[in-house]
Amino acid sequence: MRLNREDYLLVIWEYLESFDRISEKELANRLRISPPTAYEYLTKLSDEGLINKDGKKISFTAAGRNMARELVRMHRIAEVFAYNFLEIPWEETHASVMELEHIFSGDRGEVLFKNLGRPEACPHGNPVDPEVRFKEVPLMLAEDGKYTVKRVVFEDEELLKELASISAFPGTSLNVHRGDIIEIDNEHGTLKVPHAVSMSLRLSK
Ligand SMILES: [Zn+2]
Repeated sequence: MRLNREDYLLVIWEYLESFDRISEKELANRLRISPPTAYEYLTKLSDEGLINKDGKKISFTAAGRNMARELVRMHRIAEVFAYNFLEIPWEETHASVMELEHIFSGDRGEVLFKNLGRPEACPHGNPVDPEVRFKEVPLMLAEDGKYTVKRVVFEDEELLKELASISAFPGTSLNVHRGDIIEIDNEHGTLKVPHAVSMSLRLSK
């Protein structure tokens, strides 16, 4: 897939929203490009006034944030469309709309949003208004007990696939058991969740 400015801005938003930080290396991994390519593109975005690069720390400028917010919003609307109407599997929705969202932008995107019934969240529970913040706890920090799945930030395909295998979709209940490794279970089964991705699953009481 040929990457463009939109793809970079979307991924930067996802990282900052999910983990409050992003590095060149992480960006390169996520977009499956080499670190030098990521570095080059970040310099370009910085020259265009869309991001600030303060040493290794990357943040949006006001202009970059506005552009990214609109892209993320359209991405999530396109995900609802892909999941509800194209029957694309839950775990594949994110990747599948990387192309679609460019088609559904601007006025057409707004028409789609209206005709989808103004959804509040994407199929993974992430808010269509990207500025919305939830009262939630990452699995990594959750104590033992019963929770409701709030959302899956970052939408890592492997994690989504695992969660789908026990139907742990937003709005469903699960139990958390902490040990050497964190386990979650519901009536469909049990999953061991690796530490590295336990920050991405967000729960509420
Ligand atoms: Zn999503």
